[in-house]
Amino acid sequence: MAEKTVLKSPADFENRPHVVPSDLAAIALVAKRYAVGVTPHVMSTIQGSPQDDPVARQYIPQKEELLVLPEESPDPIGDDAHSPVKGIVHRYPDRVLLKIANVCAVYCRYCFRREMVGPGSATLKPAELEAALNYIRNDSNIFEIILTGGDPLVLSPKKLSKILDDLCAIPHVQVIRIHSRVPVADPARITTELCAALDREKAVYMAIHINHTNEITPDVKAVFKALHKAGCVLLSQSVLLKGINDNTQALENLFRTLVSLRVKPYYLHHPDLAPGTSHFRLPVHEGQALMASLQGRISGLCLPHYMLDIPGGHGKVPIGPSWLEETQNGTYLVKDRHGHTHAYPPENKE
Ligand code: SF4
Repeated sequence: MAEKTVLKSPADFENRPHVVPSDLAAIALVAKRYAVGVTPHVMSTIQGSPQDDPVARQYIPQKEELLVLPEESPDPIGDDAHSPVKGIVHRYPDRVLLKIANVCAVYCRYCFRREMVGPGSATLKPAELEAALNYIRNDSNIFEIILTGGDPLVLSPKKLSKILDDLCAIPHVQVIRIHSRVPVADPARITTELCAALDREKAVYMAIHINHTNEITPDVKAVFKALHKAGCVLLSQSVLLKGINDNTQALENLFRTLVSLRVKPYYLHHPDLAPGTSHFRLPVHEGQALMASLQGRISGLCLPHYMLDIPGGHGKVPIGPSWLEETQNGTYLVKDRHGHTHAYPPENKE
């Protein structure tokens, strides 16, 4: 029978293919500070070490995580400053995050909420959840709810269904978006019961966290199909990560494969300044150059927005390459994808 245990402690990783003694030493050190968790499904997709395998590097701890830089922060995107009640982050007028679980099916080594998630972190208590729902009920500007965590899909289908019932009953809430790593990291959790819970009259979007084509196994493809059948609109969100997907070919393969499976690439995040993650970050100008290299090479359907979450809670902004420049006489200079510049006339002011 297939193994079901999630690997959490250094001892769980002993005698595993591709896990070498230096990894075991790193796992022992890192596990004292951050949550570690790798599902059997993820382990089955690993074909090498964190130094050369794009899936291993996302999940197997490395000693570099112990290096914390001064610019890194436990709350890198400033959620706390926008949290009026526990579990809610209200940064933009028409939408809120509802953080319903602080645990995940797996623990990604570059996680931006790594100081807040983990097995010891509590899920919202019933009274806290009710207070969060009341906050949403009382603000008719809130159009969209983003269920996040942790990972909302670690909840039982029954619990998730009750939360969706409550949200769908709020007239001004029109869209529910679920951010999850579960479809690619633990596809067995996407059961018929869970799909039934997700099947709603109101629009349910799912933004699936995925960073490399090696994560798309036959089981994952079957899950995408099941979620489509349940009426979910599927989007992807990826993080641009050094040594994992920081080259044109890897990004092209990922985005094209997703689109062919009816998953729209939505965001490519520049990695946040989370503690101990500097080995994953590349300079913004390199990210922009990668996005420029994809322009025209893959269709607009395949291209996500390259996004930066401004530290301090100032929100997300697109930081993709700029193709247009206004000159002093009002004429524009537009660059094409080959780097050639063309003039574009100014607006007619009459
Ligand atoms: S699934 Fe999301 S919240 Fe959980 S560890 Fe990975 S990045 Fe962090």
